Amino acid sequence: LPAPALADPLDPTDTGVDTDGDDTPGSGRRWRPRRVMITRSAAELPHGQEILRRCAAAGVANIDLLTSDRLPSLGGDNPRAAYALAKSTLAVVVAPPSKRALQPIPPSADWRFDLAVGCPAHCQYCYLAGSLTGPPVIRAYANLPEILAGLDPAVGQGAVTSRSTDRRHEGTTFEASCYTDPLGIEDVTGSLSATIAHFGRHDWAGPVQLRATTKFAAVEPLLTLDHGGRTRIRMSVNAADVAGRFDGGTSPVPARLAALGRLARAGYPVGLTVAPIMPVEGWQEQYGELFDAAQRILGGVPGLDLTAELITHRFTARSKEILLDWYPRTRLEMDEDLRRQKRGKFGAVKYVYPTPIMNEMKAWFPSALAERLPAARFLYWT
Ligand code: SF4
Repeated sequence: LPAPALADPLDPTDTGVDTDGDDTPGSGRRWRPRRVMITRSAAELPHGQEILRRCAAAGVANIDLLTSDRLPSLGGDNPRAAYALAKSTLAVVVAPPSKRALQPIPPSADWRFDLAVGCPAHCQYCYLAGSLTGPPVIRAYANLPEILAGLDPAVGQGAVTSRSTDRRHEGTTFEASCYTDPLGIEDVTGSLSATIAHFGRHDWAGPVQLRATTKFAAVEPLLTLDHGGRTRIRMSVNAADVAGRFDGGTSPVPARLAALGRLARAGYPVGLTVAPIMPVEGWQEQYGELFDAAQRILGGVPGLDLTAELITHRFTARSKEILLDWYPRTRLEMDEDLRRQKRGKFGAVKYVYPTPIMNEMKAWFPSALAERLPAARFLYWT
């Protein structure tokens, strides 16, 4: 196979993958894999066939029908080359039972489930670094009906919504964007639309909410779905300096906000995921401008149901190592000496901002947001 051109991780416009390059509000960036591989079992399933149909319709010429369920090695003789090959490849596979087991995922939601693993964007702080094993090939799951059927037993269970009086009315919450950006790959998978439609029409044993976060603006396919108010889409947004410097291959923040406005007007519960928050120079002004822009777009939406999640930047030794392999020239600050260590539940060490700056930001963000968007329900700061 010819090797794709390597993405320049320091140039957000050079994604190393094919997109339509059109970021005007109303269209949004669309990802086209350079290569699609589908396993034998995945090709036998209706949703696997649907993904193939979508890829062909999107103009993907390089589609491999594998004769087994093993994915071949993608090659790449250094981490950066392996990264570029993986990020431009879509593998369509069947999620085994171990990958379909629901996981608690506080504070975002009661349960995590996956429609896919991997993401076509190139954020230099990527949350997936350190969570994925091997090159970050994008794996979309073909056994979608089986994945969705696996959610039923969890309805009525879950620590987040049962403990939080503010969120109890949401019912059991299911997060679909822990390991992928589901809208980023929607054009070639259709999995998010199918899941939203399932949540809208399924006869659930109690109230439920599907949750998904994205940095992409191509929301048009979602606007006409019968979502039944059971899906909350959140846009991941950031200050201009952070998004401009570190987000690659995503839709620009103004296009994301405009897309969130279109979703809200289509009756979706929506949200702002401000992440990863960084105390860049002039951070109050920069994040203030972000909230002003959100206010201009969302402020007048009738019946607006808006939440806000505020997540500061953190890294681990493992994620730092992987990110430096992927983006060797990054200017992202990952200096352990400038951070405070925070131990997770299982003893894993995360590097977060020192307490004084965390306290300053923790005091500023919720009130700056409430000033501009009093309708926003603040869910958590982390
Ligand atoms: Fe990683 Fe999210 Fe950026 Fe995708 S959009 S590269 S998952 S941080």
